[in-house]
Amino acid sequence: MIEITLPDGTKREYAKGSTALDIAKSISEGLARNVLAAEVNGEIIDATRAINENSNIKLLTWNDDGGKSTMWHSSAHLMAEAIEALYPGTKLAIGPSIESGFYYDIDLGEHSITDADLPKIEKKMIELARQKNTYDRQEISKADAIEYFTEKDDEYKLELIEGLDDGTITFYTQGGFTDLCRGPHIPNTGFIKAIKLTSIAGAYWRGDENRQQLTRIYGISFPKAKELTEYLAMIEEAKKRDHRKLGKELGLFTFSQRVGQGLPLWLPKGAALRERLENFLKKAQRNSGYEGVITPHIGSKELYVTSGHYAKYGEDSFRPISTPHEGEEFLLKPMNCPHHCEIYKATPNRIRIYLYVMQSLEQFIVMSKVESYTDLRV
Ligand SMILES: [Zn+2]
Repeated sequence: MIEITLPDGTKREYAKGSTALDIAKSISEGLARNVLAAEVNGEIIDATRAINENSNIKLLTWNDDGGKSTMWHSSAHLMAEAIEALYPGTKLAIGPSIESGFYYDIDLGEHSITDADLPKIEKKMIELARQKNTYDRQEISKADAIEYFTEKDDEYKLELIEGLDDGTITFYTQGGFTDLCRGPHIPNTGFIKAIKLTSIAGAYWRGDENRQQLTRIYGISFPKAKELTEYLAMIEEAKKRDHRKLGKELGLFTFSQRVGQGLPLWLPKGAALRERLENFLKKAQRNSGYEGVITPHIGSKELYVTSGHYAKYGEDSFRPISTPHEGEEFLLKPMNCPHHCEIYKATPNRIRIYLYVMQSLEQFIVMSKVESYTDLRV
């Protein structure tokens, strides 16, 4: 017997070799129908894998990030199966889950696809999902793995296998489709009830522009049709609230390719809105006992060498600005803290010194370029 500890601290005894699905069933059939994967001692594994030692277990459903990512990654396998059926000879690179959904990078060979083909692939995926095929895990030797993908003539998988150690390689098969993968996956394809393939993009194999250009197909899947409907409605609502659209419609800011991509030019209404936000922020800070200071938008390179920013980020981000005076180099201020340390040094009797900087337009531009416009807090 093994002892299983559930997240609430409950301990239960199970036969050695029990699976997370067995454990779920012993709690309730309803729970078992919703278990997508399991976190066992911190590692996410198939809900159908045997557990052979005392373990801490969390059953993962659609409500858990680990459940969602397992569902989405399994959907990438399903999409690959559909594509292989529709476009014979397609070679497969990698198919991970992402923050919202999944993608698969594929080499279509003689075929090519456009957005108009996506509904056809979705339909095939649904057809395959309804077969409720299990995702079967198989440990395989490196030699056998190489033989399989040599036979299949898939150089991408062969290159991936090259980098793996013998004894750590696993295949997963659902229906008639087998993929090189370390898992985990959902118990069977029947959990995938609704699918939307969202877009097609180009991607280089291993992110290297000197290597093959592949086709990346993005998608998202859900355990209920209703959730897909809600997701699509949410995407439409988000489009209405896109800051580029609203900024234009409300006359807040404009962009100019000549000025530079992503650099907002604030119009009178936008400037008024910014001023109100700045005043609100300053008032809140004053009310909390903070006082303002102002520091220059540039600082000597030495300042950032001392702070460590230059060694860490200088190569990538901050080109020095030279002055006619010999040996003097300045950097655009990437952050305030080194300047503020100097203020603290100059006024050591002040124990609490928390600072805000009056942002001028030019600093705003610098920061918006550095941090990316969407991350910017006005
Ligand atoms: Zn996989």
